[in-house]
Amino acid sequence: MNNIEFDKQHIWHPYTSATQPLPCYEVTGAKGVELTLASGEVLVDGMSSWWAAIHGYNHPAINAAAHQQIEAFSHVMFGGITHQPAIDVCKTLLDMVPDGLARVFLADSGSVSVEVAIKMAIQYWACQGRSEKCRIVSPRNGYHGDTFAAMSVCDPVNGMHSLFENVLSKQLFAPAPQTRFDHTFSEDDILPLEELFENHHHEIAALILEPIVQGAGGMRMYHPEYLKRCRQLCNTYDVLLICDEIATGFGRTGKLFACEHAGISPDILCLGKAITGGYMTLAATLCTEDVAQGVCQGEPGVFMHGPTYMGNPLACAVANASLSLINQNQWQTQVPAIEKQLQTELAKCADLPSVADVRVLGAIGVVETYTPVNVAEIQRHFVKSGVWIRPFGKLVYIMPPYVINASQLSRLTDAIYSYLSR
Ligand SMILES: *Cc1c(COP(=O)(O)O)cnc(C)c1O
Repeated sequence: MNNIEFDKQHIWHPYTSATQPLPCYEVTGAKGVELTLASGEVLVDGMSSWWAAIHGYNHPAINAAAHQQIEAFSHVMFGGITHQPAIDVCKTLLDMVPDGLARVFLADSGSVSVEVAIKMAIQYWACQGRSEKCRIVSPRNGYHGDTFAAMSVCDPVNGMHSLFENVLSKQLFAPAPQTRFDHTFSEDDILPLEELFENHHHEIAALILEPIVQGAGGMRMYHPEYLKRCRQLCNTYDVLLICDEIATGFGRTGKLFACEHAGISPDILCLGKAITGGYMTLAATLCTEDVAQGVCQGEPGVFMHGPTYMGNPLACAVANASLSLINQNQWQTQVPAIEKQLQTELAKCADLPSVADVRVLGAIGVVETYTPVNVAEIQRHFVKSGVWIRPFGKLVYIMPPYVINASQLSRLTDAIYSYLSR
């Protein structure tokens, strides 16, 4: 049985059917902004392996950090033990993130960091004697991961909540923010959330949202004023604000963190994806000193969470290399250059009859179609055009590695236009 056939018969892939899987492409190498397929084709990567590989693949500095750490030690339990790679990564993160965050919980994936954030928020209120504050609010069209607590705050339709109705926590949902990033803010946008807070604040532990860009739930970019108002409402109604920057963090939207577009700081912050530059899985949940003190006051006095691979030294060493590349600040010129080119080159898609909307923010370009695309067919077109782009539903979108050059980026935008105009 060849590889593709074995894969088809035995291996699950993300968000696909086991019985009717979409075609899969075997990758044999990846370097810089290019993926090499077993068939010999070389593709320009438009996805950064889902927001993660921002520095490109096979990066010499990150490779070196991984080699060095593997020669020292790859893993050691974090219970009762600490180590330099974890200390470095936490120090660096605290220097980078918005003001007020003081404590870092190292988690092993984005979804787990969201679980940790939700658990912290609920325990925080329980420890203040307010255990009725245990529900989470989120705007519709959100995406926060695939584990159960994370799922419960994802968009109820995209997240197929009806299927899991009997087991999912019943959370509260506000309409998704409607005002676009660069339009004039409409007060109507915040009213439903305000009303929800007014009526339910006594039972709300936290508001969780993706700042400025809603990712997998619709690739929507909304107005910073909405986020500012969310911060104010949380202050007014004693609700913790959890910002999920797993996708938006580390420069993707043109700011180091998307919160900065609104000049706000969350009480709890989730980070992941690009933290290791796409090398391995690592995430972090950061919180303020107030949240940490609140969680640990009274009984039980501890935070009952501790993944086996918590603070994995290899992942931390790789993250340190990735973060130090980010802190060299080349993203500050790369991301605006990508933004400008995406704006110019994707604009012509807006005139196509199949296209409902084109939007760009930072190094994210989205072309939304009126009807869902045929993924297998569009993927074949892209591979034939020498690019790797993975659309879902009505969304043909790219978020390339920051190191992509202008002609590589044009190949991505040309491939999108040529498919949608065929
Ligand atoms: C990807 C993502 C997650 C989940 O992260 P995993 O590492 O896939 O578990 C959570 N929130 C947002 C905003 C994401 O983009």
